[in-house]
Amino acid sequence: MGTLSVPEQFDIHLTDLGDRYAVDIGSERGEALIGGFTGFWEPRDADYQRINEVMAEKWKHFEYRLNFDVTELPDLLAATAKTTVWDELGDICLACGQCTKVCPTCYCFDVTDEVDLTLTNGKRVRAWDSCLIEKFAVVAGGHNFRSSRARRLRHRFMRKGKYQYEAYGLMGCVGCGRCAQSCPVHITPVDTFNRLHAQRIKAEIAAQVPG
Ligand code: SF4
Ligand code: SF4
Repeated sequence: MGTLSVPEQFDIHLTDLGDRYAVDIGSERGEALIGGFTGFWEPRDADYQRINEVMAEKWKHFEYRLNFDVTELPDLLAATAKTTVWDELGDICLACGQCTKVCPTCYCFDVTDEVDLTLTNGKRVRAWDSCLIEKFAVVAGGHNFRSSRARRLRHRFMRKGKYQYEAYGLMGCVGCGRCAQSCPVHITPVDTFNRLHAQRIKAEIAAQVPG
């Protein structure tokens, strides 16, 4: 969530230089994917210069970035789970699910059984879903264990910056900003994380001031 580019954890990374692409290979899978393609050449000084120009130009337009080191994020989210920021965001969230539809790392789904009228056949169907939609966490008996928009939003951001990191060692957000672009009320993970961080720093400073 640096967040314009990534230094690692990809197979192939392409940078559009206008009339050509800079291609970084990050894994054996990436190597295999481009195997046999003969259109590459080793970068020359002019190519490196062009890459630097393109990246410098992009950074100027890319304000969407964390104000702190991403490794602090799981701990920050744990410490701010009860802050009122979640209620404030929940108050404006429309629970439309748009952010999850455009997110490259969201994969929530629902499973339903569609039984044939004869009751002899049926299908078990997996369909795309969104953890921000009201009915996502409804279970048998009609109980909803994330009934408020605030709790659903918090859950999504916890998954992005804490739960998935703890489970897989990777953040669940790549900082692409697609959700930021598509959210009708401008709720974004990176801005939210920055806000939580600023709030935490403020609280720590206040705690150090003799009362
Ligand atoms: S910024 Fe993060 S949460 Fe938003 S769409 Fe990109 S990966 Fe998903
Ligand atoms: S796009 Fe915005 S308003 Fe819609 S569910 Fe996501 S955070 Fe809420």
